[in-house]
Amino acid sequence: MNIRNNLLKDLKQYYIQDLISYYDTNEAEQLLTILIEHYFGISRVKLIMSPEYRLSESEILKLHMAVKELKKYKPVQYITGEVEFQGLNIRVSKGVLIPRPETEELVQLIVKKESRTGLSVIDIGTGSGCIAISLYSQLKNPSVFATDISVSAIKLANENAVLNSAEISFIVHDILSGDALYSKNTFDIIVSNPPYVTQEDKSKMQRNVIDYEPHNALFVPHENPLIFYEAILKCAEIKLKNGGRIYTEINESFGSELVNLFNKHNYSEIKLVKDIHHKYRFIYATKK
Ligand code: GLN
Repeated sequence: MNIRNNLLKDLKQYYIQDLISYYDTNEAEQLLTILIEHYFGISRVKLIMSPEYRLSESEILKLHMAVKELKKYKPVQYITGEVEFQGLNIRVSKGVLIPRPETEELVQLIVKKESRTGLSVIDIGTGSGCIAISLYSQLKNPSVFATDISVSAIKLANENAVLNSAEISFIVHDILSGDALYSKNTFDIIVSNPPYVTQEDKSKMQRNVIDYEPHNALFVPHENPLIFYEAILKCAEIKLKNGGRIYTEINESFGSELVNLFNKHNYSEIKLVKDIHHKYRFIYATKK
């Protein structure tokens, strides 16, 4: 590499060129912007304003190593180890799903509908904890619980809660086990973004997702794609208060099947909600 004077703006262009056989130019630019902000605290605008900014050799090395990972299609969020979610900084690592913008919409939907004070909420399959933590910070004085099958996910979610000053009770629990969810509480709200990607969907997914994100957080068995919703409804028989609501993210192909399933379990006000891409991405319903 021959970048005179280690100017950051030139290094950025160099690495964008280096990445264009892997990503399109816009994406390569965005990825470099994220890395530069993460490692050096320099935003895109700040870099334009300070074109003379130089990196030391060790700083260049950091950038170099990160670009090397990007060439293996490692998601940039796993490289930086963080993501912004609902204005919060959430740490991520390969054992948890990277929070998606759709899941921010799920949080916003709940916050818009649930204005009462002191609600008790449980997030099933919390992963990084992003839903539970943002609900803690946006609902009025809630009690928030969160479960996950993965001990390492619960550990990370707990760290995220501490970093964001959220008081959340975390429980290691496998929703498919049928084991009673130990906690004295019953809940006003059950929320979940469970695995819902089918084997057929898998062929349309990008390498960075399939090669790096945890399959147990993404995929469902071909023969029973609604298995998690059935388990959540089963858990809700005991744990959800009458008049309480379930909110979940869903696979856009299963909207009507899920409406039927909620109907069978005696729920009212069953609503499918579209995401910003106009796909049915959420369902919520009230327990009678
Ligand atoms: N929306 C995610 C994706 O498309 C899947 C999330 C999930 O399975 N809950 O990768």
